[in-house]
Amino acid sequence: MCAIIGLANAAKAAERTMAGLHAMQHRAIDYAGIVTTDGQQFYEHRGKGLARQIFLKKVDGGKEIVLDRLHGRYAIGHLRYPTVADRPDRLNIQPIEGLYNGTKFYLAHNGNLTNRQELTEQLPGLRLATDMDSELIVRLLERNATGNIVRDLGKICARTLQGSYSLVLLFPDRLIAVRDPSGCRPLSIARNGNLIAVASETCAFETLGLHHVRDVKPGTIFEVHGNPVQTNGFCFAEETPARCLFELVYFSHPTSRVFDVPASTFRQQLGELFEVKRPVLNADLVVGVPDSGTAFAVGWGRSGRSGRFIPVVVRNHYVGRTFIAANQALRDAEVAQKFQFDLDALRGKRVVLLDDSIVRLTTLPEVVARIKAAGAVEVHGRIAFPPVRHPCLYGINTPSYEELAAANCSNEEIRKRAGLDSLEYFKLEWFQELTGDGGSFCTACVTGKYWHEKKAA
Ligand code: SF4
Ligand code: MG
Repeated sequence: MCAIIGLANAAKAAERTMAGLHAMQHRAIDYAGIVTTDGQQFYEHRGKGLARQIFLKKVDGGKEIVLDRLHGRYAIGHLRYPTVADRPDRLNIQPIEGLYNGTKFYLAHNGNLTNRQELTEQLPGLRLATDMDSELIVRLLERNATGNIVRDLGKICARTLQGSYSLVLLFPDRLIAVRDPSGCRPLSIARNGNLIAVASETCAFETLGLHHVRDVKPGTIFEVHGNPVQTNGFCFAEETPARCLFELVYFSHPTSRVFDVPASTFRQQLGELFEVKRPVLNADLVVGVPDSGTAFAVGWGRSGRSGRFIPVVVRNHYVGRTFIAANQALRDAEVAQKFQFDLDALRGKRVVLLDDSIVRLTTLPEVVARIKAAGAVEVHGRIAFPPVRHPCLYGINTPSYEELAAANCSNEEIRKRAGLDSLEYFKLEWFQELTGDGGSFCTACVTGKYWHEKKAA
């Protein structure tokens, strides 16, 4: 789980890149990197931790901060969550450096390549500097350089790469963005006059005062250069859509437009429809597990039939996002301290609890137990995403069957483990009623139908 951003023709490009990364910090909290260029030289910095901690750090005895050293009007940035075990002796932080026809460049990647093994075999004698699949794209570009970067990149994307990839590349004189034909991971374009930006999520643009123009079309390359700025598009493959449904329901920020759908509005509509399909008549309260459950709960409460929405479970904002914490022990410890409960409001009540998803079943049992300890008489769970029974191979970290609660337990077992009086999931077929879309979303973690296998066949 990562975030990428690129800026062209931006005053204070490094500072804005950091602000954009900060706005997308919900996607990853482990590593961050920024590379800038003034057209002559590159300036780079990478570190472990949150973007603001890394780039606002004082250097040179307190006279400067890291950002002061990142010059130029073009920049790319990356946030990284390690989806492979990190070896301490490797620099697994992006952007990754490469050399194209004698010119230095940098690349940042969101997604996951599914043919890593095959690609490695195509690069005989290769010694990789990192453990990241993203580095293979850099090395492929180096080996296949003819001098026409967009054409070379298009060829590699069309013929060689499989899986999901949204990319930003920085050259001394240009910014390039790429989105794979599935459009699995989001990537959007924004503009303000001469300034052009691309980012994983539109919430980054709002922070920067930029206007979202459109998404990078799946199967295309988007190139930005010159002053006054020029943009070019290049299509390398037909779109074969498999947009990540989990991004829309849960992972992306509620203020983002995800695949051109406003996430918060979508999530409220989902809650509204869920109440129609699986009501809890005469419940007193509907509570969303914050922050991501809140929009569903607001929608659910709209009819007034199945409880009123009152924010009686409050998130402590000094604890990070549990889903992206590095291991299970950390996740457990953080969940206990993450929420605070309004005891007076919950005592004697029948409660409907809305949550985004059950992945590892880390959060829900703790929340239900605390709501019951507060004196609630019933707690009914309503989960906005169908049971996650299969690992994601496309860049969301649900890596093994062992870790997935729904792959190992029946719905009834999960209901009991969570301490719920009833448990219902939003069904896959109901999404069609919401989106009017019959199949352009990836749902592999629910169905086990992996789209890259169909394409490779
Ligand atoms: Fe998203 Fe699930 Fe598909 Fe992964 S498998 S891309 S999480 S919908
Ligand atoms: Mg949650």
